[in-house]
Amino acid sequence: MNLVLSGGCACGSIRYRCASAPIAMLNCHCRDCQRSSGAAFASGVVAITADLQVSGTPSTYSVRGSSGQSTTRSFCGGCGSPLFTRSEANPQFTSIRFPSLDDASAFAPMLDIWTSRAQPWVCLDAKLPHFAESPQPPG
Ligand SMILES: [Zn+2]
Ligand SMILES: [Zn+2]
Repeated sequence: MNLVLSGGCACGSIRYRCASAPIAMLNCHCRDCQRSSGAAFASGVVAITADLQVSGTPSTYSVRGSSGQSTTRSFCGGCGSPLFTRSEANPQFTSIRFPSLDDASAFAPMLDIWTSRAQPWVCLDAKLPHFAESPQPPG
């Protein structure tokens, strides 16, 4: 993937850039992602935390995710855009919410996770692998 990861929140007070290519792109259907995104599922790009440079100071909160591990979510305190998700189980990875990308059209999900919690009216893409729970870092 040679997607350049740069983006920011809706009001522009938080910007980010990632020096390395993304590791994965996925849709997460867990209840926590539904709540934090305000949508049926959350779509994220998994990046290497150490390569991510953030300007501005996102607000954060932590929840115990469906996996039982603590998950910290970042968002812009000004406009409320969800930005980053980091789990204490895999802090080396950060999931970036795809709508914040400068080029959101470059997002192409590779898998769906926590499909056991997916809303019954969500159409899952049959061409993608589905995981009932999380195979690796939660989105
Ligand atoms: Zn903002
Ligand atoms: Zn999730």
